[in-house]
Amino acid sequence: MNHKASSISNEQALHKGNWVKLICGASNQDLPAIADLCSIYATAGVHCIDVSADAAVVYAARQAIDWVESQNGTRPWLMISISDGKDEHFRKAWFDPQKCPLDCLRPCQQICPAKAIEGGNGVNNDRCYGCGRCIPICPLGLINEQDRRVGLKEFAPLLSELNPDAIEIHTAPGRAKDFENTVSTIMSTNVCFKRIAVSCGLQGYGINTEDLAKELWARHKCLSKYNQKAIWQLDGRRMSGDLGKGAAKVAVSLWENIKHIAPPGPLQLAGGTNQFTIKHISKKDPGPAGIAFGGMARKLIQPWLLEAQMKQISLREWPEGWEEALNEATQLISPWLSRKSSPQHQSARTSKGKVFK
Ligand code: SF4
Ligand code: SF4
Repeated sequence: MNHKASSISNEQALHKGNWVKLICGASNQDLPAIADLCSIYATAGVHCIDVSADAAVVYAARQAIDWVESQNGTRPWLMISISDGKDEHFRKAWFDPQKCPLDCLRPCQQICPAKAIEGGNGVNNDRCYGCGRCIPICPLGLINEQDRRVGLKEFAPLLSELNPDAIEIHTAPGRAKDFENTVSTIMSTNVCFKRIAVSCGLQGYGINTEDLAKELWARHKCLSKYNQKAIWQLDGRRMSGDLGKGAAKVAVSLWENIKHIAPPGPLQLAGGTNQFTIKHISKKDPGPAGIAFGGMARKLIQPWLLEAQMKQISLREWPEGWEEALNEATQLISPWLSRKSSPQHQSARTSKGKVFK
């Protein structure tokens, strides 16, 4: 079961362009699946695991990380995701199954990648991670979304208790003040973060790349006040972005357009990222600091996660399933771990283009 340990640290991976993050899902609360997902991808070599702000989820992920460290000596950072406003990453689907006609072909069940709609009981809250695929597909419009954000007041004491390595703040254009309030609250907890990731994109906001860069510069100013180091998570596609044509390229295009005008710090791809994303990065130029995989990473090993759950065991207790799932995970992330990149992959704001302050 031992897997070769990575020779570089998580911080070095950001500087060398080899950084890989696993996004477990800001609303994913399926504890057995989270423990297996984290064990597999931490063993495969990710540098960070991003989970929801839920104590049980954080403990499940941390236990998996401890286990991987005991096996191969590597330890990805544990990152907790929050949002400074309404955000589709922090929602769950809901419907009343009593209202469903008996002859419905159940397209909602078929489309759900998390198998959260099974057995005519509505949505399994723990499994639903809010991807939203089921919402438009119900012919009767029965499925609604529910906002599941953790309030800042409850979050501050939870953060002190959970003491993660890093935090991610999902933000959106026009929310600079909300971002500042969020940062001020998390700083009041005196938890030391290795990095604060800022997750933002363009899609759905009606702004251009220059506007987005201005928004990021405002976040940079705020983080600088507290001497916090950022990771800029560029969301190419919104939730469920791994679906549809062009998904692999959209985050790369955003990075290409913003890299010369973004604030200082590592620029990391997300949103729609998949196994083809790396092919869109030119080998001649410095690339991004790394990538985050969410839906694609879960989907790849979903058959083994589900089978382990059916057997009522952990993937770690099922050697054949473990090897097969680990092989899939390794194939997804190894091109990034072995990527040769110039150290100039970070925001190149001083070499070209405008600087926003
Ligand atoms: S399709 Fe997505 S939003 Fe709907 S129940 Fe499944 S995970 Fe939740
Ligand atoms: S598609 Fe709509 S009506 Fe059919 S089972 Fe799903 S929620 Fe019920």
